[in-house]
Amino acid sequence: MTARVAIVTGAARGIGAAIALRLAQDGCDVAVVDLDEASCGETVAAIHALGRRGYGVGADVSDEAMVNSAVARISSELGDPSILVNNAGILRNKTLANMTLDDWQIVLNVHLNGAFLMTRACQPFMRSAQWGRIVNISSIAAVGFIGQANYAAAKAGMVGFTKTIALELGRHGITANAVAPGFTVTEMTRAVAERDGVDFDEMVTSMTRDIPVRRPGAPDDIANAVSFFTDERAGFVSGQVLYVAGGPID
Ligand code: NAP
Repeated sequence: MTARVAIVTGAARGIGAAIALRLAQDGCDVAVVDLDEASCGETVAAIHALGRRGYGVGADVSDEAMVNSAVARISSELGDPSILVNNAGILRNKTLANMTLDDWQIVLNVHLNGAFLMTRACQPFMRSAQWGRIVNISSIAAVGFIGQANYAAAKAGMVGFTKTIALELGRHGITANAVAPGFTVTEMTRAVAERDGVDFDEMVTSMTRDIPVRRPGAPDDIANAVSFFTDERAGFVSGQVLYVAGGPID
């Protein structure tokens, strides 16, 4: 059987890179999409080392023309994509009183417009194959988090988007699910500590106190959940949100 082609956005590093490698281990050829094409090189090399084809593409997922051209390039280079993981994300944490319209819009643009544009560009390939897997990376912040009105709105929006496309695309053999990570050690969480002037190890200790399994998440924890949703055998699981957070989320 020919390998499935997967696209993972924001896969130059962090959770996205772990997902890309996990999908390569699962037997997929993987396109690594990130803002800067050169930054994709490390993930692509690691995919090659696993014996799969990898392809790095520089694109801003919130830019319609860039998304359409990236998906066209991937399709001609690797083949038609049938797995899409919308992972690219940014933070612009501020309390509501201090949040600018720009802080609000950029976060919604990357997470929501990005997931919408990427999914819309990929779904024709999945429809013609009558098979597809879409996984959107939400967050436990979707239930509300101080200083993250923009991010919480975007991540909650991704849940509504996921459930809607699960309803619309199910009859084409396409599933759509969301993975909602809790506190996971990546550059993103390190940058939060740095910006807040907090020692990262102290931040991890304090965050971990409230996590029932008493440890922070690792990118591989999230990648394992994505691997479940993209599996051939998960075809009857759609429209779900899986919290990967070391405990229950209310
Ligand atoms: P990360 O280390 O900051 O990686 C995010 C990647 O996305 C970066 O390579 C970044 O590129 C890229 N990116 C940002 N904007 C983009 C755009 N417009 N187009 C294409 N690529 C873009 O973050 P992470 O911690 O791995 O997070 C991955 C996902 O998990 C995000 O959606 C995040 O919201 C979600 N999440 C993370 C946590 C956590 O605790 N880490 C918890 C819940 C949910 P640059 O480096 O060039 O900016």
